[in-house]
Amino acid sequence: MKNELCLSGKLMESTGVNVSHCYQCGKCTAGCALAADMDYSPSYILRLLQTDDEKNYHRVLSSEAIWLCLSCENCLARCPNEVDIPKLMDYLRQKSREESCVNSQARPVVAFHNAFLDSVKYTGRLYEVGLILGFKIRTFRLVQDLKVVPSMLLKGKLNLLPESIKSRKKIQRIFSKTIDNTK
Ligand code: SF4
Ligand code: SF4
Repeated sequence: MKNELCLSGKLMESTGVNVSHCYQCGKCTAGCALAADMDYSPSYILRLLQTDDEKNYHRVLSSEAIWLCLSCENCLARCPNEVDIPKLMDYLRQKSREESCVNSQARPVVAFHNAFLDSVKYTGRLYEVGLILGFKIRTFRLVQDLKVVPSMLLKGKLNLLPESIKSRKKIQRIFSKTIDNTK
């Protein structure tokens, strides 16, 4: 009979990151520009994951910290054991969405994330106007910052029409095999 993997085993299988390699030196947290604003510091997230406890795993998935992480890789550069926290954070964000336990403070970040992905999915590029509209509709911030739009248009900072790449179908195939497949 096949043995069921523990939580840290599943993390290892999906990301290649072994959380047991962390010995809690705290260098990642000391070097993280966002640590002071996070509800759980990067090293504390590692500690929670090491416990292999469902409740602690849920605490991590519901945290704001995983959405504040910028994937700057400063923690990875400082870690003596090369624990890839940014990769872990990416995976945890995806799981947090799948399990519908996104932290309420992080909803604007998720709205931006979704609007950005929609732009890449449908044009193969970043279409700023689509990104802004997608974000505003998702967060009900329709009139915020509206007054800067005319000057941005005049200065050519915003293109009203999207520019698409030639092989959009390839991009859509990538989405259907990855992100869309996990929804
Ligand atoms: S720097 Fe590495 S070993 Fe130290 S606490 Fe962070 S993840 Fe753990
Ligand atoms: S990758 Fe995330 S956790 Fe690591 S230092 Fe940057 S913001 Fe902090």
